[in-house]
Amino acid sequence: MDAMQNRNAELKKCPFCGNAIVEYGAYIPAGSNVQYFMCYCVLCGAHGPQSIKKNSKEDAARLWNRRGGH
Ligand SMILES: [Zn+2]
Repeated sequence: MDAMQNRNAELKKCPFCGNAIVEYGAYIPAGSNVQYFMCYCVLCGAHGPQSIKKNSKEDAARLWNRRGGH
């Protein structure tokens, strides 16, 4: 198991606390067999919107970056 923190360079740092370590989390709706992703801050727990497309980390990243950046 890799102990290194997995920094996703394509994700902007957290807009709330400034932490640069942002991870992807999977979200599986109840009764569903598809999953969606969202990005979340490992430090303060803030998370972005869940992806609109199924199984799309890119979509989650796009939404996170849009929310976090100006
Ligand atoms: Zn944060």
